Amino acid sequence: MKILITGGAGFIGSAVVRKAIADGARVVNLDALTYSANLENVASVADHPAYAFEQADICDRAAVEAVFRNHQPDAVMHLAAESHVDRSVEGPLDFVRANIVGTAVMLEVARDYWASLEEPRRSAFRFHHVSTDEVFGALGEDGEFTEETPYDPTSPYSASKAAADHLVRAWGRTFKLPVVITNCSNNYGPYQFPEKLIPTVITRALEGKSIPVYGDGRQVRDWLHVEDHADALLTVLANGKLDETYCIGGDADHRNIDVVRMICAELDKVAPANTPHADKITFVTDRPAHDFRYAIDASKIERELGWTPRVGLQAGLAETVRWYVENPGWTQRIRERGFASERLGLVKA
Ligand code: NAD
Repeated sequence: MKILITGGAGFIGSAVVRKAIADGARVVNLDALTYSANLENVASVADHPAYAFEQADICDRAAVEAVFRNHQPDAVMHLAAESHVDRSVEGPLDFVRANIVGTAVMLEVARDYWASLEEPRRSAFRFHHVSTDEVFGALGEDGEFTEETPYDPTSPYSASKAAADHLVRAWGRTFKLPVVITNCSNNYGPYQFPEKLIPTVITRALEGKSIPVYGDGRQVRDWLHVEDHADALLTVLANGKLDETYCIGGDADHRNIDVVRMICAELDKVAPANTPHADKITFVTDRPAHDFRYAIDASKIERELGWTPRVGLQAGLAETVRWYVENPGWTQRIRERGFASERLGLVKA
């Protein structure tokens, strides 16, 4: 089985690349190497005979066609995207381009390629789109997202992912391209670019800086360890039904402020400078149109495919904190590339 994984130099994609190789698959990692990519994330497999890397932009049809032609994949796992909500407020057109146009190009190239395959490879081919629970919009105090929840995206990021999901479904219905979609909650774990909530808290705390919490910190998110997500994605690729959607979550929904306090408590155990770290928590202006609550009902993937998360949030946060403490060079090199951890995504009046 040879899997073409787009975005495999990013946070989740690299976890999928590492796990797919460990599981015995061959992998082609197609990535444009944007600001959030990091080839260090796949250094452990870079010399593996089952691994190949291709630097290409998913919006560049000729480049994507060449990757399909040269590597002849059996399946596509499409993760390449602009992924940070705050950046989508700063520059929404980048998200329209990468997430919508890029997905359309991937679908078109995959469609031509799939049509050219002989049986049984043609029937076995899969195009798996990796999406987010943010396409469903915000929940109130109660309820959970399911595969039937209507789309109601709020940010340019979630709207662009929703558009991509619609394109994938349309290519499935209109052209019979064999597609499957997953919508997952917030991921955390090693190798996450330090602009997202959990690595922001850890890396800023380790540097003795203030720990920004948006608004009053009462927004609720469900958290899933990235390796559990990678496991779920490979399970869906192998056994998911065509044209279906699977919601993936960690059954670990917590208020942001509580997650930040849990991280600070873990930091107090392993990073004695600047304790108690919670003293550095600073409430800052909220994100525009900040969705109040996300929670996932992941019973379909459990019932139909037997997948459940293995890593509890407390243990996963402890491991993640340790990883950032033990790998300061990883963050340092990102800082040296110009990442300054400044606040993004405030709409100017
Ligand atoms: P990331 O920003 O860490 O990685 C994205 C990768 O895509 C990078 O390596 C980047 O170079 C690549 N990329 C971006 N634009 C590209 C282009 N035009 N051509 C080729 N490569 C390009 O993001 P992530 O957090 O790993 O998210 C991966 C996917 O999972 C995204 O599709 C995201 O929407 C989805 N997702 C993320 C989360 C989460 O919590 N991070 C949750 C659910 C779904």
